[in-house]
This record gives sequence, structure tokens and C-alpha cells, in this order.
Amino acid sequence: MLNPHFDNRFVRDLPGDPDTSPGVRQVHGAAYSRVAPTPVAQPRLLAYSADMARRLGFSEADVASEDFARVFGGNALLPGMQPFAANYGGHQFGQWAGQLGDGRAITLGEMINADGERWELQLKGAGPTPYSRSADGRAVLRSSIREFLCSEAMHHLGVPTTRALSLVGTGEWIERDMFYDGHPQMEPGAVVCRVAPSFIRFGNFELPASRNDAELLRQLADFCIRRDFPELRGVGRGQALYAEWFARVCERTAVLMAHWIRVGFVHGVMNTDNMSILGLTIDYGPYGWVDNFDPGWTPNTTDRYQRRYRFGQQPQVAYWNLGRLAGSLSLLFDDTEPLQAGLRRFVSTYLDADRENTARKLGLAESREEDTALMQHLQDLLTEGEIDMTLFFRGLADVDVHSPTLAPMEDAFYDPARREAVEPALREWLERYAARVVQQDLPAAQRRERMNAANPRYVLRNYLAQQAIDRATEGDIAGVTELLEVMRHPYDDQPGRDAYARRRPDWARERAGCSMLSCSS
Ligand code: AMP
Ligand code: MG
Repeated sequence: MLNPHFDNRFVRDLPGDPDTSPGVRQVHGAAYSRVAPTPVAQPRLLAYSADMARRLGFSEADVASEDFARVFGGNALLPGMQPFAANYGGHQFGQWAGQLGDGRAITLGEMINADGERWELQLKGAGPTPYSRSADGRAVLRSSIREFLCSEAMHHLGVPTTRALSLVGTGEWIERDMFYDGHPQMEPGAVVCRVAPSFIRFGNFELPASRNDAELLRQLADFCIRRDFPELRGVGRGQALYAEWFARVCERTAVLMAHWIRVGFVHGVMNTDNMSILGLTIDYGPYGWVDNFDPGWTPNTTDRYQRRYRFGQQPQVAYWNLGRLAGSLSLLFDDTEPLQAGLRRFVSTYLDADRENTARKLGLAESREEDTALMQHLQDLLTEGEIDMTLFFRGLADVDVHSPTLAPMEDAFYDPARREAVEPALREWLERYAARVVQQDLPAAQRRERMNAANPRYVLRNYLAQQAIDRATEGDIAGVTELLEVMRHPYDDQPGRDAYARRRPDWARERAGCSMLSCSS
């Protein structure tokens, strides 16, 4: 039992830091530093993803064993694990920030499951590493619950993401100044084990490039292509291969952005160290879900003035981030045209994916040029009228296009005055929409099915997560378990679970954790 197979290619194939001391330092010429998790007082399994455990081949008995909580709380290693912290840099809020690295994440190893899939197991909050800078290497329960739940919710929504295996309470308290206002408080600590085929970020390439270390940059690129992009096997070599690889990164990132816009997810901190080379959603911090549709909204209080990472801006930011990656990779190229071509691939892929999502969200059998304008107009009205995105699109599937009314979207309005102001225009839009749907030859049931597969009924609304966090902080983890269960089937109507599909209640409008989040985690 608990005897998985590991094949640790990252530490085997890439140069590591010869210094194995724990001290904080600048690490040159190395992709990682070996470091073990720091044991915690009382590791206790609070929640786990049965889905992910099964995928990895852990039985229920494995999960229930004391060893499981010990290993995934950072108190023990399994044979074959070779823990390390990765070395990377990044652009934070538009500025080059130098070396960052895994300050509180520690990879345990690359596990190979029974199907031959490679899954990197990584603890977040496992204690200090050479990259912890001035921080403690730990994570609080509230942010760990948020990462745990959202990873799994996103996966079940069909959005590329890192996964979560487990949430372990540490039995320790740590100090955080949640509002950065000089009033730190003690909060319970936790460790999440997150899982992905690769945790390589744009920043892994940016750091050696910033130091003009073309050798390490090339090693990383070759490694990443070999391990993480098996589909590129046989696709040329040298610069042609690097170019195609970069283009694939652009494609994956574009597809991810279209998904975020489709489901109403705002990452909150799209720094280049938080951009996965595989186009996965990674590093769940002060993220949020759009309640009333608003392209200008960001949950991140640290970003409230500039709003760089606001909902509607995310595709543009991703493009900018890819530009930084391209700049780093240019060290491997004689000229930049192949990289420009990759960036163009981002634009075309995003436009295609967004057009396809528009058609799916509106229940159109095929997408036409003019549908983009139809969607844009709707989005303007949703913003103006302060209308709930999730409830509106879900309700739209129930509109009878032969006599369209707003009745199926009745619950989506937050403010009666704003509703009144926007209602005439919204009715007009609905008429146009109905006319567009009637033109096509798609039976009503099929249209509804198509829409309900693209417009979730349940998303991890910020206030829902916060309620589960409040309960967990009181010692009752059931709210987390229930929420995880609901989020496993976001597109199904789940009888008896209407409470999870309601619009944000008034009390949550301005409450910390519900509409505003800081980076403190
Ligand atoms: P983030 O904004 O969460 O992506 O974090 C940016 C950088 O800060 C990363 O290098 C993290 O590893 C590091 N970091 C964040 N929180 C902590 C912490 N509590 N201890 C050590 N490093 C941290
Ligand atoms: Mg990060």
C-alpha cells in the first residue's frame, strides 16, 4: 500500500543547485534546489478529491491511512520521492521581478500511474525553501481550501487546470496580515497536494534568459518539449521545433483564456510566474468568479486601482505574457519572425475559440460572423443592467424563441433600478436573438442541451467558498466536502441543490473573501 512508482525526470535530466542548505539565496545555473518539506505538528486529512485519488491509483484504504496524511502534510516521504523547489523568475504586474521560485511549493516526485500517465505531485505550504525570500513557506487554511476546491471545480467545468489531491490541516497556526493594514492575525495552516503533468511556468524560461544563460535555457526548452509536449515528436528540430513548440504554448494559452471568459473566471494574478507552459490554470490565489457580468471586475484588492488583471482583460494580458516568453526564447533564435508567428497563432486561436464558445453559449448550431456582435451587445447589456452571468446564460436556454420573455432569467437581476433601465434594450436583444435562433434548423431540445453543456449551472461563487471556509475554520469541514461534490457536476441540474446556484446575496457584496481578496495567503 502507498507504494506508487516515481520517475523523476525533472531532477534527473536538469541541472540542480549543488548547494543543499536551506538558506534563502540566488541560485544560478540550476533549474531547481533539493529541499525536503518541513514536518508539521499534526497532519490531518481534511478533504481529498476521490476523483484524483482514483486517477492516481490510491485506494480508499490508502487515503484513510495515517501515512497518507503524513506524506501529503509533509511529514514523511515515500520511497522514490525526490523533493525539490523549482527555480524561476517572472514579470509581476508588468515589472520584471527577478528570481522568485517555489517559495512554499515543494514537488515530491513525478508519479507514473497504472495507465502510464505522469503526474507531478507538489505540496503547497510545505515550509521554507531557498526561494522563500522573507516569507514562511506556509499557507493558511482559507487559501488552501480555495485552491483545493477551485482546482477540482475547474477540471469538472472542462477548463484546463492543475488538480488537487488532498487538503491536510497542519495543526499549526501562522500569522497573516490579510488586509495588509498592520493587523496580523493567527490563522490555521494547511497543505494542499496539487497535481499536474508539469508545473513549468513561463518564468522558468524567463529567469535563465534574464541572466543570459542560454545553455540552461536551451536545456529547459529541450526538456520541456521532450517531457511535456510528446505531440511534437517528429516535428523537426532546432529552431523549427522551438518555433512550433512556442506556437503550441500560444494555442494552449489562447484556449485557456477563452474558457475563462466562457465560465466567468478571473485569475487575479496573471504574473508570468503564474502562467503554465501547458496552458493550465495554475496558482489559485485571489481569484474570483464573476457574479454580475462586468469585464472591469477584479477580485484582487492589490490590483484595485490599475485593474491590470480584470476579467475582460485576461486574453490581452496572456498575449503580453506570451510576448515576455517570446522575448526570453529569442535567445534560441536567429531572428524573431518564428516567434511573431507564434503570437499570431494566439490571436487566431483565441478568436476561433471565442467564436465557438459564443455559438455554444447562445445555442447556435454554427457560428457566423455577426454572432460576435450579438454576444458583444448582450455582454454590454449584462454589464449595464448588473445581471448575473451564470444565471442569465443558463436561463437563456429555457427561452421559448417563438414567444421570448425574460421570465427564465428572472433571478439574474441584482438591482431593480438598473434592471428597469436596461429592460427595453434587453427585450429588443431577446427578439433579435430569438429571430437568429429560429433561422437555424436546430430542435429546441438540442439547442438547450448544447447551451447547458457550455453554460454551467454551478460555479464556485466567491461567497460559497467563503461560507465553506467559515465553517471549516470552526472545525466543520462538511461545507468543503459538499461544495466539492456539487462542483463535480457543474452542468447538471442537481435536485435539492438550488442553494448552490443562487446569485450572490446582498451581504456578500462587499465582504472580504466574497468580492474582495488580497494576495495574503
Ligand atoms: P504568488 O503571487 O502566490 O504567485 O507568489 C509569488 C512568489 O512568492 C512565488 O515565488 C511564491 O513561491 C512566493 N510566496 C508566496 N507566498 C509565500 C510564502 N508564504 N512563503 C514563501 N514564499 C511565498
Ligand atoms: Mg505563484
